Amino acid sequence: MEEKKTVLIVEDEKSIVDIVRFNLEKEGYAVLAAYDGEAGLTKAREANPDLILLDVMLPKMIGFDVCKALRAEGSSVPVIILTAREGESDKVEGLEIGADDYITKPFSMRELMARVKANIRRTAMQQTVPGSGSAAVTYGGLSIDLESYQVSKHGAPIDLTQREYELLTFLAGHPGKVYSRTDLMEQVWNYDYVGDDVRTVDVTVRRLREKIEDEPANPSLILTRRGVGYYFAGT
Ligand code: CA
Repeated sequence: MEEKKTVLIVEDEKSIVDIVRFNLEKEGYAVLAAYDGEAGLTKAREANPDLILLDVMLPKMIGFDVCKALRAEGSSVPVIILTAREGESDKVEGLEIGADDYITKPFSMRELMARVKANIRRTAMQQTVPGSGSAAVTYGGLSIDLESYQVSKHGAPIDLTQREYELLTFLAGHPGKVYSRTDLMEQVWNYDYVGDDVRTVDVTVRRLREKIEDEPANPSLILTRRGVGYYFAGT
């Protein structure tokens, strides 16, 4: 029998924790909960969950700082930020500091479950990243080892979040092919719907460029085809 995937929910509103826990357990996930940022960070370190649902406004330590701390430690666990505001700033800040996704409160359980499933499924899909038999992709000083998930630039290892890694390996697996933001949302994020979420793609591309490009403002690896989308430069 397949091992249960574990979701850690870090949220100070107990009623939200309870209903999310109920729904996740019904879908077959194991659920851990923490009610403030510090406890969330401790549980994330100790229990090594498969996904974290992370509220922003938390006692003791805000969600952004929890996510930052995990990324600084090299954790690539998928993080979905639960933001209370409709505003763009929380979403963009969340993505900038390394979250994989966000969902705005109040959210429907159906949407939350879809996001959890999409983000966890991506983890499972890592075993089948495009690479067509080759265990490594090397181009322009960039090296991607598809077996160990290690990415390095000029020999120096680079820490990528899981989403950044998947976006990179997806594009690098189809060099020269241009993908629209909607395509990438579907292929890399596994979303069947898009709406305003395509902005997520731009933020993730920008962050990825900051990590892998010699000159992020003048990229040579992940290129923009204006008005169309993004593509990997290699051959
Ligand atoms: Ca809160």
